[in-house]
Amino acid sequence: MASGTSMICSLCGERAILSQRYSGLHLCREHFIQDFERRVAETLQKRNMVREGDCIAVAVSGGKDSTALLFSLSRVLVEIDVELVAVTIDEGIAGYRDDTIVAAKAIAEQLSLEHHIVSFREEYGLDLDEMVSGKRVAPCTYCGVFRKSALNRAAKRLGADKVATGHNLDDEAQTVMMNYLKGDIERLLRFRPWRAQKGLVPRIKPLQEIPEKEIALYCMVNDVFVQSRECPYANLSLRADVRDMLSGLEREAPGTKLSAVQGFEKIVAMAQGSYSQMDLAACQRCGEPCVKELCKACELLGSLRSGSNQ
Ligand code: SF4
Ligand SMILES: [Zn+2]
Ligand SMILES: [Zn+2]
Repeated sequence: MASGTSMICSLCGERAILSQRYSGLHLCREHFIQDFERRVAETLQKRNMVREGDCIAVAVSGGKDSTALLFSLSRVLVEIDVELVAVTIDEGIAGYRDDTIVAAKAIAEQLSLEHHIVSFREEYGLDLDEMVSGKRVAPCTYCGVFRKSALNRAAKRLGADKVATGHNLDDEAQTVMMNYLKGDIERLLRFRPWRAQKGLVPRIKPLQEIPEKEIALYCMVNDVFVQSRECPYANLSLRADVRDMLSGLEREAPGTKLSAVQGFEKIVAMAQGSYSQMDLAACQRCGEPCVKELCKACELLGSLRSGSNQ
């Protein structure tokens, strides 16, 4: 972010609001917005994320990432025949999700978009709080599995062609690093979506090359309301430690997060073909795509009911 008052935009000489250390540019409000939206458009194009006529279910939690996602997509795709539908997953996290749902509603309404709310309770019979209460389990693992499944189910009901999520560069760098740390490279490569799978709505991440800090700034300069409350479970994961480590490295060497993600993309490109993508089957209980007989959500629900993870 800009420090001091003397910094000027590298492109027009106006007062800069952002110093992009990794690009060496200083940007004013207008050029920052342009730069942000250009990068979103480039990511969409580079990865063939969107086609004319697509209906895109945009996962909107009400936090800054998904708010910026919905806002920027509505601007970048304004001249393309694409329908955006906002979908909010209510995991059932007391003291957190209710506020963010209000924010999600507000941004969908501001952009005049259809908005659907899908809850864990309706889909699976339990709130996240109930699933994890009194158990020695990582809430984020449950949350991630059920959210992915609920989003896929909702997208299919809405007839969406894609699901867009607000994962940013920081999230992507953390995921790459976490998989390295867990030695999970093979699994990561196998599940790389090289081709469409039956029953699985393709997922796109248009903000995957944009740093978290710039996303917050984008919301701020566009004056979109953002709920900044943090999930009470957020610090209980390996991700939180990896996030702190990567932020420290980024301070020392600007560009580290981007090179972690781009380096992984190179490995993926080199490995393409060495690991065949598995064909997914349909879960015997709920019909969602899965690798084994049951999908991960049904497997977890089963263990919750039998109490095998107390
Ligand atoms: S921090 Fe974890 S539990 Fe909270 S919303 Fe995110 S994934 Fe879910
Ligand atoms: Zn400028
Ligand atoms: Zn299932």
